[in-house]
Amino acid sequence: MTKDEEFVGENPTTPIVNEAEIDIAGLRAKYAAERDRRIRDDGNSQYRRAAGEFGYYAKDPYTPWKEREALTDFVEVLVIGGGFGGLVSAAKLRQAGVGSIRMLDEAGDFGGTWYWNRYPGIHCDIESYVYMPLLEEVGYVPKRRYAPGEEIRQHAMAIARKFDLYRDTAFQTRVTSLAWDEERNHWLVETDRGDAMHARHVITSSGTLTQPKLPGIEGLETFKGHTFHTSRWDYGYTGGSADGALEKLADKRVAVIGTGATGLQAIPHVAASAKQTFVFQRTPSSVDVRANRDTDPQWAASLKPGWQKERQDNFLRIVSGEEYGEDQIQDGWTTVPQLQRAMITGKIDDSISAEERERTEELLDFAKMNQIRDRVDSIVEDPATAELLKPWYRYMCKRPGFSDTYLQSFNRPNTTLVDTADFGGVSKVSETSIFVGEDEYEVDCIIFATGFEVGVSGVISGTMPVYGRGGVQLLHAWGQAGPQTLHGFYSHGYPNLFHLSSLQTANSANSVNFVHILQEQAEHVAAVIAAARQAGAEVIEPTLEEQQAWTASISELAVDNTAYLQACTPGYYNQEGKPSGKSNAFGPGPVAFHRLLANWRETELAAFAARFAQVNA
Ligand code: NDP
Repeated sequence: MTKDEEFVGENPTTPIVNEAEIDIAGLRAKYAAERDRRIRDDGNSQYRRAAGEFGYYAKDPYTPWKEREALTDFVEVLVIGGGFGGLVSAAKLRQAGVGSIRMLDEAGDFGGTWYWNRYPGIHCDIESYVYMPLLEEVGYVPKRRYAPGEEIRQHAMAIARKFDLYRDTAFQTRVTSLAWDEERNHWLVETDRGDAMHARHVITSSGTLTQPKLPGIEGLETFKGHTFHTSRWDYGYTGGSADGALEKLADKRVAVIGTGATGLQAIPHVAASAKQTFVFQRTPSSVDVRANRDTDPQWAASLKPGWQKERQDNFLRIVSGEEYGEDQIQDGWTTVPQLQRAMITGKIDDSISAEERERTEELLDFAKMNQIRDRVDSIVEDPATAELLKPWYRYMCKRPGFSDTYLQSFNRPNTTLVDTADFGGVSKVSETSIFVGEDEYEVDCIIFATGFEVGVSGVISGTMPVYGRGGVQLLHAWGQAGPQTLHGFYSHGYPNLFHLSSLQTANSANSVNFVHILQEQAEHVAAVIAAARQAGAEVIEPTLEEQQAWTASISELAVDNTAYLQACTPGYYNQEGKPSGKSNAFGPGPVAFHRLLANWRETELAAFAARFAQVNA
């Protein structure tokens, strides 16, 4: 694929809604039927972890294993996770004058999800100027509107160099437990490398999109060909690079399972290189115009200090329904922000009734999805294949996709779309083949583009047990009621421990630009730690009352989008068709949450920290 093929198309447009042309009853019925034929009783348990017998799928193909001595020293702040959440936290702490910082990551270098995901075609699906954090601090302007993964990974490493974070980082290290030492007022951090480190403060920011997920397909372990997950791409087998040209596939029959955001980016390169490509699809993604392009050097030169924060705020205000003035981004995310209200909490237009709002949003949604389905017809030559590639659900049921090369791949004579919807996905794998119902497809290689255990940090899954005051385990303390925190960051009985996550904070996965959300969280946590240091407080934690008040307000303000998600085709947004009720994100949305945090820092943080200075004295 040439660069020219990638750089086609104008920006996606807001569709014109012509109510008379929309078959409301017909579309509702079609959406319900398409959902019903995909629902599986086993829901989330249809997947298996890439562990144990399948641990091979999660192994690091990029960095050779390095032996090292176990660490037993003391640091002021230990940060778990070398992705953007951890990096921005550490950068902000450095700016606040913290010298003693250790970062830990299971990976062999910085980058988080961008360390693991290096598949061909990998790009950020959000504009690079708002996605890549700390651009001004590092002095960098991305080369393209949507940056390739390698540029993003290099930027993560550049942040680490800029803030001198390599010197004390331990890679290839997984934390196995955190235990609060009440006598010495610090955390004991144990790892799978035999470390027993001590840290005054601990920040956790890990696990969002790093743990691969596999379908529980019968017979997978019997396959004798080659196989891997997109997040551990095997270039030794395929040849080529993230730019494509996978020359070693020229004599191979390759299966790709999965057509989500990753599949859309990787499949065009497999199709262009392999002798034969079979794409196993269960639910088609919506695929809108991408319109990637080089960064205009004149524009880059014209940027004034503070431009990135302004642009990030502009994006977030648009997608969360706040007032925004001019749309600086003008892409697929910002042209239909009303449709995102279903998933992204934010400001609701209350000048009209809820019924009227739902009616106009549904009409706009139908018009947008009709536009996306028409685009399939205009690109895909074979009518039967085009029909299978049309998504029949509301716009935000799945993460919207963008590509100017994906649909075109199905016009290649060597590329076959195999629909698995009526079978709940791929049915079976044998030594040589994939089966869908009775139909057999003989292949040399199976590539799983089947996604991740989304948002599951070790704290939540219990693989990184946390023992607070009195040795009480955090998950036990939270119990059936679920997470209880102040602002989503810290919990009573677990001093000096801060989580960067989606729990009881601004909605993360659904706020589109999660890195911006993490950046705001990191800034807040760094400010709290800095205030504690300044006040001479060794220990800092919310009171039970503060935690209860925040948890109650999260529950009171929670947006209930169960009805919307219930009507969606299954996927990770709706727990595979079984939505779990009210969201535990901050209902008024991310902009309101950031306002609340800024206000708290200004009016309450100093007193919060001073309170502990007295206790610790
Ligand atoms: P997804 O979970 O979105 O997609 C998994 C795919 O595998 C789906 O198409 C799913 O079908 C399919 N699948 C699962 N089980 C089976 C089965 N048994 N048989 C056949 N097909 C199956 O994972 P992705 O890696 O694509 O994306 C995950 C997230 O990563 C995205 O939502 C996005 O947040 C992020 N991402 C972001 C990018 C960016 O640019 N910022 C780029 C890529 C990913 P079905 O839909 O029917 O379940």
